[in-house]
Amino acid sequence: MLKPVATLDPLTDPAPFRDALAEWFGKHGRDYPWRRTSDPYAVLVSEVMLQQTQIATVLGRNYYGRFLDRFPDPESLAIADDADLLKAWEGLGYYRRVRMLRETARAVLAAGVFPGSLDALQKLPGVGRYTANAVRAFAFDLPAAVVDGNVARVLSRLVDFRETVDSPAGLKHLWTLADELADPQRPKIYNSALMEIGQTCCRPGVPDCLACPIARFCKTREPETLPVKTPKAKTTHVESHVLWMRDSEGRVLLHQEQGKRRQGLWKLPER
Ligand code: SF4
Repeated sequence: MLKPVATLDPLTDPAPFRDALAEWFGKHGRDYPWRRTSDPYAVLVSEVMLQQTQIATVLGRNYYGRFLDRFPDPESLAIADDADLLKAWEGLGYYRRVRMLRETARAVLAAGVFPGSLDALQKLPGVGRYTANAVRAFAFDLPAAVVDGNVARVLSRLVDFRETVDSPAGLKHLWTLADELADPQRPKIYNSALMEIGQTCCRPGVPDCLACPIARFCKTREPETLPVKTPKAKTTHVESHVLWMRDSEGRVLLHQEQGKRRQGLWKLPER
C-alpha cells in the first residue's frame, strides 16, 4: 500500500485540516437519524446506544427509531418500569446502559433543563467526558472534541503517536491533541467527519490512505501498526447448563438474572 507523505502540519496550522474535513463531509457524510436532530435527549440516546453496539445493528432493526417512539423525551423515560425498559432495549445487550439512561433522564428532569456545559453534563449519571462532549457538539453545536475508538485511531495515525492509546497517559495526550485540533466554528461537522473517516478509510488494520481526505496531513508511514494498544486480557471460557421445565399447562420456568450486566432479564434457571 502506498501511504502519501504528509506535506502539511495540522498542529501548526489547523485551518486547512478543518476545511478538508468539512469539505469531505459535505460530499460524503452519511445521513444517520441522529445527525438530523439537535434534541440533546435524542443525541444522548444515540450515543448510549452506540457505545457497545455497531451502527449497522442499531439501524438494521431500527432500534433507535423504535426506542424514541416509545420514549420520545426524558419525561417518558423517567417513569418507565423495568419491564418496558428492557423490552425497548431487547437485542441491544448491555442492559445496564438503558437503566443508566433512565437515571440520566430523571436527573435532567430534576435539573429542569438539559445542561449544555461540560461540567454540568458530566455530573449526570453515566455521562463521562466523551458523552458530554458528544451532546455539546452534536446537539448544541458547541466547540467540543470527542475521542472514541475511531477518533483515537485516526488521531494516533495523524501524528504518528506510538504510546498506548488506552493508557491514562495515552488518553490524556489524545484528548489534548483532540482539543487543539477541534474546529470551534463547525464542531458538529468536524467531529462527525473525523468519526466517519475512522469508520471508512482509516479503519483498523490496513487503511485506505489513497481515499483519505486528510492524507496530506497524516504523519505516520506505518498506519497498520497504529494505534498501539495494551494487550487484551485472556478470554475466560464459561460453560453453563440450564434447565428446561414445563408445567402441565405448558408454561416454562424462568427466573430473573441478578448479575450486574443483564440484571432483570428473564432466563432459564441454571443447574
Ligand atoms: S486513512 Fe488514516 S492513516 Fe491513512 S492517511 Fe488517512 S488518517 Fe492517515
